[in-house]
Amino acid sequence: MIESFDTPLAPLTTMRVGGPADRLVLAETTDDLVDVVREIDDADEPLLLISGGSNLVIADAGFRGTAVKVASRGITVESSDQCGGATVRVAAGEPWDEFVAYAIAQGWSGVEALSGIPGCVGSTPVQNVGAYGQEVADTIASVRLWDRREQRVTTLAAADCGFGYRESLIKRSGGRYVVLDVAFQFLLGGLSAPIRYADLAAGLGVTLGERVPVAAAREAVLEQRRRRGMVLDEGDHDTWSCGSFFTNPLVPQDDVPVIEDRVATRLGVDAAGSMPSWPATLPDGQPAIKLSAAWLIERAGFGKGFGMPGPAALSTRHTLAITNRGGATARDVVSLAATIRDGVRDAFGVTLVNEPVLVGESL
Ligand SMILES: Cc1cc2nc3c(=O)[nH]c(=O)nc-3n(C[C@H](O)[C@H](O)[C@H](O)COP(=O)(O)OP(=O)(O)OC[C@H]3O[C@@H](n4cnc5c(N)ncnc54)[C@H](O)[C@@H]3O)c2cc1C
Repeated sequence: MIESFDTPLAPLTTMRVGGPADRLVLAETTDDLVDVVREIDDADEPLLLISGGSNLVIADAGFRGTAVKVASRGITVESSDQCGGATVRVAAGEPWDEFVAYAIAQGWSGVEALSGIPGCVGSTPVQNVGAYGQEVADTIASVRLWDRREQRVTTLAAADCGFGYRESLIKRSGGRYVVLDVAFQFLLGGLSAPIRYADLAAGLGVTLGERVPVAAAREAVLEQRRRRGMVLDEGDHDTWSCGSFFTNPLVPQDDVPVIEDRVATRLGVDAAGSMPSWPATLPDGQPAIKLSAAWLIERAGFGKGFGMPGPAALSTRHTLAITNRGGATARDVVSLAATIRDGVRDAFGVTLVNEPVLVGESL
């Protein structure tokens, strides 16, 4: 294990803000990861796990404790046949998009729409990453975890992971679990899952529900993501972000008429009629309505590029992404997020929830 002290964390994150950690340890194997987490817990010291750093905003004051950078690698095909598909176990520190590219090259179907998402494999079940009509929960068979409370390795079948919209038991556990590796179950045959996202179907020239070769689906997704500044690019400040800063709000069905009234009062009846919404389920299983955070943010007066020239501003290509234009601090990022959250709440009575994990900062 490699360790260093008083080490800046900003370069380990895609938002590129935040101060140093007292200690940084690089865990390059699963055994190292378990050993260092156990050592930190035995000493009763604070622990911060960092994988790709693409969903983390670290406070300017840094982190008083040990940050563990997850860097374990390895892809193992456990079984593969035409009837059962492919079962593949992947170490937590494998870069997610490299793994997706590998899956596409094997003709495995089920993660093609998740192409281009930054970060590592082990973080994908934490918030059940999703994009373009797919969620990683669709292909996860099980997750192997280090349980910090019980001090033992445990395996959760997908059905026991409590997956929801950007949600999982792992996320809700408040740091109890460390993902060691993830087992995926793929269909073989080289055709994508049915295309479920209208813009993607249009880009591919197919109708919703059709399947296309997985490689074509990946290319179409990457093309859409690049257009929205959602593929990491060092030279492009629109990508110095955590992706979407807010999740799409889930509201109880009964609240929708009140929200529509507020939209109508502010923007007119036509706007209320065209407010995007989808049926969804609340974490407690109650039926809900999912609203579009991007639509609400824009209609509350925060257009693309709001806050330019920075140091923190909305992406010039996507209203959901708060970006660092170069010299931003964590405070700049969180202040802009608070302005947007308060503006949306004042306009429509909807409180946005942040998607990235704030370390030492609060909204
Ligand atoms: C440009 C851009 C586009 C994005 N697009 C999407 C998108 O389309 N869909 C989407 O869902 N997300 C998206 N994201 C968000 C982010 O990429 C995902 O949430 C990703 O899975 C985070 O992975 P990471 O390895 O970077 O996690 P990190 O940021 O390192 O960590 C995130 C959280 O998980 C914890 N964690 C890290 N590793 C482990 C582990 N092994 N075990 C337990 N906990 C762990 C961390 O402590 C932290 O709380 C985007 C981000 C960016 C910058």
